[in-house]
Amino acid sequence: MLQRFRQWMCPDLGIDLGTANTLVAIQGEGIVIDEPSVVALQKGTRQVLGRGSAVGKLAKQMLGRTPDSITAVRPLKDGVITDFELCEAMLQYFIRKATKQSRGMRPRVVIAVPGGITPVEKRAVFNSAERAGAGRVYLIEESKAASIGAGLPISEPMASMVCDIGGGTSEVAVLSLGEIVAAQSCRVAGDELDEAIMEYMKQHFSLRIGDQTAEQVKMEIGSAYPLERELTTEVRGLDTISGVPRKAIVTSEEIRDALQEPVEAILACVKGVIERCNPELVADLSDNGLVLTGGGALLSGLDKLMNEQLGIPVRIADEPLTTVARGTSICLEHLNHWRSSLDSDVEL
Ligand code: ADP
Ligand code: MG
Repeated sequence: MLQRFRQWMCPDLGIDLGTANTLVAIQGEGIVIDEPSVVALQKGTRQVLGRGSAVGKLAKQMLGRTPDSITAVRPLKDGVITDFELCEAMLQYFIRKATKQSRGMRPRVVIAVPGGITPVEKRAVFNSAERAGAGRVYLIEESKAASIGAGLPISEPMASMVCDIGGGTSEVAVLSLGEIVAAQSCRVAGDELDEAIMEYMKQHFSLRIGDQTAEQVKMEIGSAYPLERELTTEVRGLDTISGVPRKAIVTSEEIRDALQEPVEAILACVKGVIERCNPELVADLSDNGLVLTGGGALLSGLDKLMNEQLGIPVRIADEPLTTVARGTSICLEHLNHWRSSLDSDVEL
């Protein structure tokens, strides 16, 4: 009863602090915030624009299109916080927006962080969340949250495998009995795919394109495996020789070629983790397979390619962009069960 009252007064929050997107889930309500992890600043200052409100969607629109007086920054890169102060400002904005100040109470918060994060970085996330208005803070490894969100039976004495492909990192993990038994974080993910497209356009079309254009091309016609019907799209950029704007038509075959190297790097990371598992776990994997989560899971044909190359079943989680956030929320619902395996601010 008391718990229900507390929950009503001050709902607990699950946060997926991603390099590309930050999602906030309120227990019992679902995902209430899903915005890019971007902050816009007055150039030369640490002042967030719009009295601290130029965060998320609004700030992303400014990326790459800002007048000289404004810069738009991503406070996380390669899965780690590169700008603590801005990360805190961003968390604060999202936590306040999600709780509408929580009637003055401080919510309990579970935050998903990359597996490779150092103790110093953990401390920084704790401090940011606390200063942003959180009460008790717990950290959960992203891949564990992804597995919980994807509904994998990770508490069973049986191997489950997940590969979460975000903007900055791909997190691969094998879990059993609620714990990670083998894992690797690789710094090749969505951003690298975009960069590979930019590089390809420069090399093969003498066209310089922006990263948002590259991302669009990736989502529209990018693939990791031959398509039943190959596609084309028009790309606009700057001619690297004449320096004037120009259009080009690219095919999905060309973009697949551009993406081959980073896609293979992600595949190698998955193979590396499987190789480190003992034979019993590997036997489980050939039944249970691999689940793909994160926005990168949506790259067309990636599941097919992985299935062919790894020889195990591969499936894409439902709504892969929200799997981690939903995992943090499920973790909050069963906090008594998970608490002992999470890092909490009281221990560090
Ligand atoms: P993070 O956890 O790092 O915030 P997300 O899981 O939100 O990352 O995924 C963002 C990444 O997913 C971006 O690099 C984005 O380009 C990519 N992405 C989103 N949708 C698609 C799609 N349909 N095809 C390929 N990549 C996609
Ligand atoms: Mg993520």
